[in-house]
Amino acid sequence: MELIFEKSVSGRTGVRVPLSDVPNAAPLPDELRRREPVRLPEVAELDLVRHYTNLSRRNFSVDTNFYPLGSCTMKYNTKVTENAGALFASCHPMVALLPGGDKLVQGPLSIVYELERQLAEITGMEEVTTQPLAGAHGEMTGIMVIAAYHKARGDEKRKYVIVPDSSHGTNPASAAMAGYEIVTVPTAPYGDMDLDLFRQAMNDEVAAVMLTCPNTLGLFNPHIAEICAIAHEGGALTYYDGANLNAILGKVRPGDVGFDVIHVNLHKTFGTPHGGGGPGSGPIGVRGDLVRFLPTPRVVRREDGSYAVEDHPEGIGRVSDFFGNFAIMARAYAYITMLGREGLVEVSEQAVLNANYIMARLKEEYDLPFDQTCMHECVFSASRQVQNGVHAIDVAKYLIDRGFHPPTVYFPLNVKEAIMIEPTETESKQTMDAFIEVMLEAARLAKEDPERLHEAPVTTPVGRLDETRAARMQQVCCE
Ligand SMILES: *Cc1c(COP(=O)(O)O)cnc(C)c1O
Repeated sequence: MELIFEKSVSGRTGVRVPLSDVPNAAPLPDELRRREPVRLPEVAELDLVRHYTNLSRRNFSVDTNFYPLGSCTMKYNTKVTENAGALFASCHPMVALLPGGDKLVQGPLSIVYELERQLAEITGMEEVTTQPLAGAHGEMTGIMVIAAYHKARGDEKRKYVIVPDSSHGTNPASAAMAGYEIVTVPTAPYGDMDLDLFRQAMNDEVAAVMLTCPNTLGLFNPHIAEICAIAHEGGALTYYDGANLNAILGKVRPGDVGFDVIHVNLHKTFGTPHGGGGPGSGPIGVRGDLVRFLPTPRVVRREDGSYAVEDHPEGIGRVSDFFGNFAIMARAYAYITMLGREGLVEVSEQAVLNANYIMARLKEEYDLPFDQTCMHECVFSASRQVQNGVHAIDVAKYLIDRGFHPPTVYFPLNVKEAIMIEPTETESKQTMDAFIEVMLEAARLAKEDPERLHEAPVTTPVGRLDETRAARMQQVCCE
């Protein structure tokens, strides 16, 4: 495809700038004048529209096709929530922080406040802050709050954070960023953090235990209440990675189970799709004594029903410039308000049913390392196909040729040749059946014509990339 500059024709234009109608306008001071013309493509409006429309058609999106990328919750989000996000585009975030400015932005402030209440109710936490700008940022904020808690109690010997080996990579990374050393506990054959090994790892130098539940294998950990109790007995706090809340929405509240801190990804579960590198939002919720350490400032509701911005003096400080990624928060507020309590329950029930449907229909042809009822996603292994020289990546590339976004592959790390499928609640049985047929077709080709899978994708603008070379070249660049 041509670049837009390659379409440029000298003198062609798509806009007509009106002449100034300011009488006696002072000329631009000479030092501010551009010396050389700016290099812009000279194209007509139609050239530009075609260029970007054609580019967008080379992109894969939920609006066009099924996108079962595990752990990313690529659900369809309605245009109504999009509109809710766009409503506030003209509202400058600085207004709320200027003296007296809160009076001008009561609507947006009410969304911050009410969304925090909604998320507190959904997660079983006491207070929430919307400041963190992604899931990983929420994790780091949460661990910093935990550190502030231990410090305020004079308990400064705690220097470890425990994570299971199946944890999302951001968990140990965020804990390390917040200054902790990581202790990793292996997964037991039943698919969860090994309880005995966890007991052995617990001691009075452990600051927190971080868990994803359901874990990255898509399994609900039946021992989470017990894990929380063991951690608390040892004086540690418990952190719940709630990035994938789609699995338990309206069913289980992590606060009720015994978790002290949680982050949720609004850009997965609540009205904004994940992936594609767009902005994120990772609010955290906390319980009890931790509330006072939440970031400053906070939005409060006064007795007369108005909203104000208040300093939160004992808090860990600011973790973002304003109250977070506001457009994503507005979408989440619209999403939760629209669905209500029953709607949210239906979301998780349907998401879990869909994942189990796909798991049940594919398990004859693909190995299922942990064969039990899954939550919002299921994790297969292509190890059987490997015997014919076909790897998870080959199945993934073949799916692209057949119009499906590949599932997540090679994650979680503790499953060899992992294929992690998350259909979400918004897909119909017909769409899932079509996907299942192609997965079965790939399994058949693996036996009969593995070459076809090695060649894939053949329908895309760019064919199979040389990943080894890419990895090596990257190394050269970094050295
Ligand atoms: C997506 C995800 C994260 C990280 O969220 P980001 O917004 O990408 O930083 C953390 N934990 C789990 C389990 C996730 O799926």
